[in-house]
Amino acid sequence: MKGNGATAGLLNGVRLEPVPPGSEVALGNEAARHAGAPDKKTLEAATRVLLDRLADLQDVFQADGRHALLLILQGRDAAGKDGLIKTVYGAFNPTGVRVAAFGPPTPLELRHDFLWRVHQVVPPRGMIGVFNRSHYEDVLAVRVRRLAPEAVWRGRFAQINDFEAMLHANGVIVRKCFLHISQDEQRERLLARLDDPRKNWKFRLEDLKDRDRWDAYTAAYREVLARCSSAAAPWYVVPADDKPVRNYLVARLLVETLESLELAYPIMNPAVRAAAGDFR
Ligand code: ATP
Repeated sequence: MKGNGATAGLLNGVRLEPVPPGSEVALGNEAARHAGAPDKKTLEAATRVLLDRLADLQDVFQADGRHALLLILQGRDAAGKDGLIKTVYGAFNPTGVRVAAFGPPTPLELRHDFLWRVHQVVPPRGMIGVFNRSHYEDVLAVRVRRLAPEAVWRGRFAQINDFEAMLHANGVIVRKCFLHISQDEQRERLLARLDDPRKNWKFRLEDLKDRDRWDAYTAAYREVLARCSSAAAPWYVVPADDKPVRNYLVARLLVETLESLELAYPIMNPAVRAAAGDFR
């Protein structure tokens, strides 16, 4: 099925570009906003069009059955991973979606290689998956909090690239988004978690410790983007201070990714059709 993306929902210049392999990406506060994005009303209307389109694409994606799709989401605390999943993945039929979140590894997980728990929840063909955090924590949190020696986490960049190349070769379309928020925006969101009784449950003291390690996380993320963005599994930096911009950009990325697959409904087996002739 060819896309009709050239028509509605596509706002000029408001789209994500993949991080070129090996490139140094500046992750300053200013990069957390998209220069020239239209107003909220325009963005939300365009996003609704994209979400409708995603629902149609998921139907043919499931029927086509040649690929799996996996979106990997990373970001600092309060970057909006949950909100993005709620809005964008809310477009899909939940029976075809697989959501996995990765917290600190359990004792059993720690006895396995770091990709063990990840590989098990990669979506099968026909399914659309999303990871809320991922194996990248093993070169981010593990590095910054010094949970493993440098030689161990450094070796993981190549292991991650091999793993993702293997997934790609087996029909898994991988897209990776770093939701980039500024220090001020994170502060506002963490304060809201402290002040709003409906958000208190999201507040964790550990998040304040990670905020104090802002620069160390920036360095770790920059190295991830430089070393692990590939043609098989590209990284995208999503300016995420503004939620409507964030939602629009990721919805558009998914629409364009699915449209690029030239999905098709399978043609019915003539023998089945013939055998069902009497039924009609
Ligand atoms: P989030 O912060 O993602 O919204 P949450 O507050 O509900 O989620 P959990 O999902 O229980 O918390 O855990 C998230 C935490 O787990 C993060 O601080 C993350 O750095 C940490 N984490 C995830 N994977 C690993 C890992 N492999 N090693 C160490 N820490 C990890």
